[in-house]
Amino acid sequence: MFIEWPWSPARPAGPAPWSQSNAGGTAGVECVVTEPAGNPHIAILGGGIGGLAAAAFLHRAGLTCTVYEQASELKEVGAGLVVAPNAARLLRRLGVLDALVERAVRLDVGWEFRRWADGTVLSAEDLATACERLYGEQTYTAHRADLLDVLGSAVPDGVVRLGKRCTELVMRGERPSVRFEDGEVIEADVVIGADGVHSVVRGTFTESPAPAYSGICAFRALVPAEQAPAFARRNAQTLWIGPGHHLVHYPISAGTLVNLVAFAPAGDYSVESWTATATVEEFLVEFAGWDSRLRDLIEAANTPGRWALLDRAPLRRWSYGPVTLLGDAAHPMFPFFAQGAAQAIEDAAVLARCLAGDRADPAKALQRYEKLRIPRTTRLQEISHGRSHLNHLPDGPEQHARDKAFAGDDPLVANGWIYEYDPDAAMAHSRGARTNEASRSLVD
Ligand SMILES: Cc1cc2nc3c(=O)[nH]c(=O)nc-3n(C[C@H](O)[C@H](O)[C@H](O)COP(=O)(O)OP(=O)(O)OC[C@H]3O[C@@H](n4cnc5c(N)ncnc54)[C@H](O)[C@@H]3O)c2cc1C
Repeated sequence: MFIEWPWSPARPAGPAPWSQSNAGGTAGVECVVTEPAGNPHIAILGGGIGGLAAAAFLHRAGLTCTVYEQASELKEVGAGLVVAPNAARLLRRLGVLDALVERAVRLDVGWEFRRWADGTVLSAEDLATACERLYGEQTYTAHRADLLDVLGSAVPDGVVRLGKRCTELVMRGERPSVRFEDGEVIEADVVIGADGVHSVVRGTFTESPAPAYSGICAFRALVPAEQAPAFARRNAQTLWIGPGHHLVHYPISAGTLVNLVAFAPAGDYSVESWTATATVEEFLVEFAGWDSRLRDLIEAANTPGRWALLDRAPLRRWSYGPVTLLGDAAHPMFPFFAQGAAQAIEDAAVLARCLAGDRADPAKALQRYEKLRIPRTTRLQEISHGRSHLNHLPDGPEQHARDKAFAGDDPLVANGWIYEYDPDAAMAHSRGARTNEASRSLVD
């Protein structure tokens, strides 16, 4: 048996996921579709940013795959995201960066931290002159739907199957078998769980403890540029930080919209969903007493979305034989470094390289993939987690010390390890390290 439950003995009741039987026991005719032989056939569960990036990189590496997405159309929520240089580098490699840039905004100023009460600038990055010089790429802000769209353009027609909600994953011997809500069952040589923060794959193969209450929730909204105050229309990513809260805004969609996301105490709110909403009044109450300029921006927010941040500890393992995890399914993180989607895209690039390099032994390829990726994503999960404390300090000596440090710090350089990352270089480096180890052991 090559699958074992990891670090907790308390496996849930019911058949084990590797059971040979039709473990779901659902009524209806089971239709087993075995994918064609040849290259390993790869099933990707989830057609979000991570799943589509994986399909695009696999295609580029000459591997075939099918993406199974639960939604009936490929769509993303109405929200923006920062596309940092490490993500831009990979989008360029896929040949889709230019198309995204046409619809995005190139940031001139990034990580512009402002004091909550009066907007005093604590620190700011001159991305216009420094970013490309340091990292070979610019930083952009984009609508999530535009990012999904350009990733989809790098995936051949017919690869994505919509309306396919995975309900169960079992092992039939050494092959994973996936059951969908509509009764279809498929087998594949490799299954990639790119099914997001509520991953079925993660739930089947790992026993991560239930997510913990973080006490933080996010309000988010898109504001039409013509209704937004001038300070929010600049090509700048601005973060207003204050006691227990912070608020971020930047323009997206070629400057036609302003993306607004704010973090506040969650109270007893615990819904982790892109579709849950709040009211403008609830949003305003959280930022009462803050710089009055923010009021205009929040008032233009229409019906804000509300998302409870749940806290999940990093996993020590993602791969179980021919099954692995990618993106938020593998490493959900607080969005305080704006790196969740970027890490999903990096995962996709590394995973495709590993599978292409070890076609005959996918399980070995998946081991290599997680070994290359887990240390980096764990570090990002940890620093993103720590950021909530720093951003939300009450006024006082600790906050003074933080502001002083901000003024003297250069986060663009300090976070170079995030932005300079190149999966190809990381893989070449690890190959070099392995060769050195091998030659050392020969000498020993
Ligand atoms: C408020 C907020 C702000 C953020 N800002 C940024 C940012 O600026 N920059 C950044 O890089 N990241 C940001 N992130 C993080 C980013 O949104 C995520 O990391 C990213 O969306 C993860 O992509 P994913 O493909 O792994 O998961 P998802 O985007 O969640 O996609 C999962 C897909 O799987 C599908 N699916 C789920 N279950 C099933 C199933 N059972 N069967 C079939 N399909 C299924 C879903 O429909 C979905 O399409 C932010 C997150 C939040 C909450």
